This record gives sequence, C-alpha cells and structure tokens, in this order.
Amino acid sequence: MDSVSFPYDAPVSQTLFDRASLVTPGGVNSPVRAFRAVGGTPRFMVSGTGPYLTDADGREYVDLVCSWGPMILGHAHPAVIEAVQAAVSRGTSFGTPGEGEVALAEEIVSRIEPVEQVRLVSSGTEATMSAIRLARGFTGRAKVVKFAGCYHGHVDALLAAAGSGVATFALPDTPGVTGAQAGDTIVLPYNDLEAVRQAFAAHPDEIACVITEASPGNMGVVPPGDGFNQGLKDLCAENGALYISDEVMTGFRTSRAGWYGIDGVRPDLMTFGKVMGGGFPAAAFGGRKDVMGHLAPAGPVYQAGTLSGNPVATAAGLAQLRLLDDAAYDTVDAVSQQIRGLVTDALTKEGVAHRLQTASNMFSVFFTAQDVRTYEDAKKQEAFRFNAFFHSMLSDGVYLPPSAFESWFVSTAHDERAVERIAAALPAAARAAAEASEVSA
Ligand code: PLP
Repeated sequence: MDSVSFPYDAPVSQTLFDRASLVTPGGVNSPVRAFRAVGGTPRFMVSGTGPYLTDADGREYVDLVCSWGPMILGHAHPAVIEAVQAAVSRGTSFGTPGEGEVALAEEIVSRIEPVEQVRLVSSGTEATMSAIRLARGFTGRAKVVKFAGCYHGHVDALLAAAGSGVATFALPDTPGVTGAQAGDTIVLPYNDLEAVRQAFAAHPDEIACVITEASPGNMGVVPPGDGFNQGLKDLCAENGALYISDEVMTGFRTSRAGWYGIDGVRPDLMTFGKVMGGGFPAAAFGGRKDVMGHLAPAGPVYQAGTLSGNPVATAAGLAQLRLLDDAAYDTVDAVSQQIRGLVTDALTKEGVAHRLQTASNMFSVFFTAQDVRTYEDAKKQEAFRFNAFFHSMLSDGVYLPPSAFESWFVSTAHDERAVERIAAALPAAARAAAEASEVSA
C-alpha cells in the first residue's frame, strides 16, 4: 500500500460492505468495485441522475465511470426509462423471438457495415466466448492470439496474459483455468505486429483467430499504433485466420459505428456490449454472414441463452442507440476534451509527470513520463500517485474508476455544472498526486 489517506468516512457504505462481505466473496460482485487497488471503503450507490451518483451516505458525486461505459446518455435518461417501463409492463421474458430483438439487430447492422448478421447475448464475456468458439468452429483450428493487457471478459481461454516475449504460450492467470484451457492461447505484446507475424510463422494453419480490443481501454487507454489493426487484419487474411475486433467497450461509444467508424479496418467478427444494452445485460457478436451462418440453428456451432434478446434489455438498448446521433457524439467528445484539458492543466501545474491518452472520448491518465504503447509500459507508471489523486477527487465529490488501469467515461449529461465541479476538485487532487510517496507495506 502507499501513503494515501482517506479524507472522510462513508459509514453507511462501510456497514453495507461489512454485511456484503459476509455473504459475498470480497463483498462485491465484480472485483474492481471493492477498491482493493486504491484502498478505502467502496461506495454503495443508491441512485443516479444525469452525470451524478448518490451513495448510501447521501453524498453526490460527478460520475466519471458511467457504469464502466454503458451510461453514455447519463443515468436514468427519461427516454430510456420510458422505454423500459413500457417493455416491463408487457412482461419481462418470454423465451421466444420478439420484435425488439429484431429491431436492435437491425440498428446494429445498419450502423456497422462489416456486421452482416448479429447474435444477441447477455454479457460481453458471452460475446467474446461465443465469437471465439465460432472462429474455431469455422476454421477448424484451435489456437487463439490475444494481447497482453487486453481484457475480453472472464472467458477461461482468455484469462491468460503471460509476460512479454514472442509467441509465449500462456500460463493461466488465475487458479481454476487449466493449462489445457489456456494452452491454445498465444499472448503477445500489444502494438507489436512483428510478434504476430512470428506467431503465424511458428504455427502455420493452427491459429483460428486474433482477438484484440479495437482500441484497448482495459490497461488504461492505449490506442493502436498507426496501421496496427490493419496489419492484424492483413496477417489474418494471409494466414486463413479470422480477425475479431472486441468493441464491447468502444462500440457505439467512440463513434456512431464505434472504433470501426474511426479506423475503418474491417473485422471478420466483432463483439459488443455496454452501450448497446442501455444499462441492461445485453451484448452481441456479429460479422461476416458466411461465418455467422455456422451458428446453430443455421449451422453446427452451438450457442444459446435463456435471456438472450430479453425484451426489457433490448428496449433499453434500442432507446439508447436511437438517441445516439452525430450530435450526441459531438457532445460527448466536446465534454471529454474539456475535462482532459482540465486534468492536464492541473497535473502540469503541480509538476506531476503524466500521460493523458485518448481514444476518441475515452481517456485515462498514466502517472509516468513515457508514452504507453504496451501493458509493460502501463505497469511502469507510479500508480500510488493515482491512488492519492483518486481519494482526493472522491472526497471532493468526483467518482473516478478505482484503479489506475481503467478508462474514464463521460456522457452527454456531463454539463457545465458537472464540469465545474470536476474543475474545482482537480487542484487539490493534483497536489495530492504530487505529494504522494510510495511506502512499503
Ligand atoms: N471485452 C471488453 C473489451 C471489455 O471491456 C469487457 C468488460 O469490461 C468485456 C469484454 C466483458 O464484458 P462483460 O463485463 O459484459 O462480460
């Protein structure tokens, strides 16, 4: 741990956390929520409106997490709530086809040209897991290439990020994933096309697919270097493998057509989640029709889900996507730029070495003087400075991702008042980052 102090108490959250810890491992249902990286009491939120969250102690925060991306219109957007209420009143799950899922699929296909067909699922994890199964079924090959620092959900085969080195066979990152499950995964350094070339050379006719975050946000924001995604696509095409672009985070966030709308590199398969669910569990994978045609019941590759295409989730997602026109993206981009400027100014003023990296309206701050192009680079930052910065912002009513290795997210609801509150909190946080020191545990 480091020298961070926790400037104020959150007694009701602490009581809830104590209760939760008795009945839930670590007190949370997804690890990062436990604040282990930054220390202190995780805030239990009770409501959200626009750019704000209110915790169980009655404190309001400007939210720069936005549920890790989905809430691009802010919390409780009236049109989304109305669509959800209308859907709920008709019943919550039928286990049959319904029009809502057709409309959501049509919306996705109309926005993202390489997606000729799409299958709805309930989480990003399911989307990437299914896309990989399909790639293996389609190509008849076993091996999967992924990149260190890219997260694709908690799919067994993808919970592997062996150290750098070319064509390193992955060791599982977590107990419970067997060598067999991770053994067909090849983990390579991000932004290193030569490593991919060598992997194809070392394993001719064995690699089913290369999966990459379209623009990674799970090691902090580390955009692809010029030509990296195109290079992946070309190497896949030359070697009979599929190029899978994971747009669970970037999809419908970084532009109308996600990261594809920015770099135009045409994947064979894509995965989506977060924004397309409007705050509900809806996700998807899709792409080339000839590949998607291998999915059951059209083809032999099995994939299914009791709640897939759920009518409430699809209504929420559709309502949100229909509001996301060019003007909405202009708004999100502008507010992101404004906040980035404020953060950079505050840290520069205090002499804090940092790199603010962006991918459209996604961004994160690395506490380092070097550009970050790989996971190894990201790990070299002084994360203890982030922790001091985080707690100062929290105490001044700004909720940041509780880890130095996450993207920050904004929404169309982040208005002048919200930005002013962020601006007011930044000088003290930058000072805290400047003064932070690492003390051994
Ligand atoms: N892929 C990416 C790029 C993600 O960022 C995430 C989640 O953060 C996932 C997949 C997994 O999605 P989910 O948490 O919905 O399972």
